[in-house]
Amino acid sequence: MNLGIEGKVALVTASSKGLGRASAEALAADGAKLVICARGGAALRDAEQAIAAMGADVLAIEADVTQPEQPARLVEATVERFGALDILVPNAGGPPPGRAADVDDQQFLDAINNNLLTSVRLVREALPHMRANGWGRICFITSSSIKQPIPTLTLSNSARTGLWAWAKTLADDVFDDGVTVNTACPGLHNTDRIRSLGTNVSGRVGDPADFGKVVAFLCSDAASFISGTAVLVDGAMSAGLF
Ligand code: NAP
Repeated sequence: MNLGIEGKVALVTASSKGLGRASAEALAADGAKLVICARGGAALRDAEQAIAAMGADVLAIEADVTQPEQPARLVEATVERFGALDILVPNAGGPPPGRAADVDDQQFLDAINNNLLTSVRLVREALPHMRANGWGRICFITSSSIKQPIPTLTLSNSARTGLWAWAKTLADDVFDDGVTVNTACPGLHNTDRIRSLGTNVSGRVGDPADFGKVVAFLCSDAASFISGTAVLVDGAMSAGLF
């Protein structure tokens, strides 16, 4: 299927590994130009080389996306290099685990900054460029926890549902400008994050490459009438009906 994103400019944050990298690679495979970022240099160079080897135009930027000034810097660098920003995939590292009654104020504030405000900042910076072109795609990487809270991941459950409530509100505001707003919600995928949480994985685990293809579809021209939608990519893990 031709996704209709050849030549579009995509910024995928937190993308040297895991789901962010897989999303960047899937967008590159369909002809998008890519800006990727991460804090650590070596994995970022590796991702940059892999995406360039696919024949894509790619810019890699070392940045901690959770620092308040970095979203503006990333968007500015994207537009400076490629002259546009059409596709935004806000992503950041996940918060630490913790049971509901145990997380303290600082942990909450960090999670809200890293997994809610960072994405809001990225969108605020990117939107004027999308509106100017009458075309834009925003697809957050969140979690299946926005549909069914995960008992040990209080901070993730809380920050991501807050982000999605904000994004649902935004989706209606920007739809007539040609901008769609969606989220892909991972269940258990084979990444460093899942290994570091020591998650007890039994049964089939998701391949990040398959997750990336869902993100690429939601960011495609073909998905122009899909907005305000949270798509589970969890291999039937979540028990809820909706
Ligand atoms: P991962 O494999 O650990 O990869 C995280 C990527 O983000 C790395 O490239 C990392 O590079 C980068 N990163 C982390 N913090 C960053 C920061 N502050 N600024 C810039 N880059 C940063 O993680 P993942 O499994 O792909 O998870 C991605 C997101 O999806 C997380 O929020 C996670 O909680 C969520 N999620 C994942 C799953 C899953 O099954 N994997 C399930 C539900 C939700 P550096 O460390 O070098 O910066």
